[in-house]
Amino acid sequence: MEELANSEGISDTTFGALSTSPDILVFSENEMRRLGYQVVDAVIAHILNVDSQRPAATASDDVLTSALDGPLPNSASALDVNLTTLVDVLTTYQQHEDHKRYFARVPGPTSFPAILGDWLATGMQATASSWQNAPGPSTAEIVVCQWLGEALGLEGAWDGILVSGGSVANLTAIVTARACNGPGTIYLSDQTHASVMRALASIGWAPKDIRVIPSDRSHRFDTAALATAVLEDISAGRKPSVVVATAGTTNTGAVDDLDTIAKICAEHGLWLHVDAAYGGAAAICDQGRAHLSGLSKADSLVIDPHKWMFQPFDIGCLLVKHPGCLERTFAMSPEYLADISRGTVNFYNRGLELTRRSRALKLWITFQTYGRETLASAIARCMALAEFAQRIIELNPLLQVVTPAQLGIVTFEAPHLNDAGHADVIDRLTSEGFAVTSSTVLDGRTVLRLCTINPRTTTDDIRDTIEHIDKLTRSSAPEFHRSSTPLLT
Ligand SMILES: *Cc1c(COP(=O)(O)O)cnc(C)c1O
Repeated sequence: MEELANSEGISDTTFGALSTSPDILVFSENEMRRLGYQVVDAVIAHILNVDSQRPAATASDDVLTSALDGPLPNSASALDVNLTTLVDVLTTYQQHEDHKRYFARVPGPTSFPAILGDWLATGMQATASSWQNAPGPSTAEIVVCQWLGEALGLEGAWDGILVSGGSVANLTAIVTARACNGPGTIYLSDQTHASVMRALASIGWAPKDIRVIPSDRSHRFDTAALATAVLEDISAGRKPSVVVATAGTTNTGAVDDLDTIAKICAEHGLWLHVDAAYGGAAAICDQGRAHLSGLSKADSLVIDPHKWMFQPFDIGCLLVKHPGCLERTFAMSPEYLADISRGTVNFYNRGLELTRRSRALKLWITFQTYGRETLASAIARCMALAEFAQRIIELNPLLQVVTPAQLGIVTFEAPHLNDAGHADVIDRLTSEGFAVTSSTVLDGRTVLRLCTINPRTTTDDIRDTIEHIDKLTRSSAPEFHRSSTPLLT
């Protein structure tokens, strides 16, 4: 460098400024501590206060635009002011999926160790692309994938990878299944998560090779219909290739009969992919595992720690039983052949991301800090909360259980209300600000649904929420009443 700098033609006036570290983009130690603690304080205030706030807040576009929009900033402004703006927006204008009375879709309860783990990964620019650039975070990823498998009771050592969530994990699984088991027909049920169909469309899986089998009366995969369809396809000269089963559907928490499906798969050489994005976590406790028989028989399995393992968004996990399959599918360089032994893993060769953040640290510190037993009792508590909700609904003369509590989900209806009436109840519940829940559609009917996976939720929260729902169904406008039922007074 010295030689270059001294060589003729390079003048100090042109490049002189480069000879010292710049102070652009830099904050002083004192400022960083002060502002960093400001964020810590804001997050801790959120954790302490979230349950006493409204679980959902909305605002008109105007309000949000005036808070955040404006011309592209050309010059600097104060970081503490900007942080305050963001804190205000975050605390005010979003549904708090970590609120103890947030029962909609799939809530996102977090935990403090996991938040700290995520912060560390961000602050230390933790990556997990190649073994060479990140042996530490890569090892953490290998370890947490192994721990997840063990926690779920999977037998053997599965290869794993962390991705952004269940959608990308399902996509990664399907691409792997096709690469390792060959193209052909894929079988889903009508309760399969929509991300699977989108994954198939994204990779151009021919619609004629996708069979969606109507689920049985309990919203499980109709295994008899599956067996028939597979046989029909074989005799028609098609090649059955993959079955996507669900362990804990997002709609009702129903678990497909994995043992029977695995048998059909084994008999005809199909790849069994199990989407346990929602329900898989329940296998960590005895109460849940009792409902999840057959998980180990999957060829690939998806679980979303950002749903029911108390992780900040985002983290999903794909586990594959066959060693080297992920690399065979995704490796960008032939050196991968050297890397499939355990120990060194180049994660960029296991999925679609090259530069990847380390999502493992937060889950590692969660397992390490709480231990399996504590996590298991938190999850068991959530399952019991849904059972409690079911009991309260059963005792209510105006409400009726549609599907019983399964892995933390119960669905129910107010039989005197029509579909629009159910949607209206949800809207009014949300705008009241006491609790948030959502509807779903089962057998063509709109029903109410509670997903109780926040361990801070209490029986009072459930009882009071159902009481609110009861009141709202009583005060529904006449146009929301089913014509066949007399108006209630
Ligand atoms: C939530 C969910 C997904 C999608 O997961 P994301 O993390 O939202 O991408 C897939 N399958 C099932 C069963 C789910 O519940």
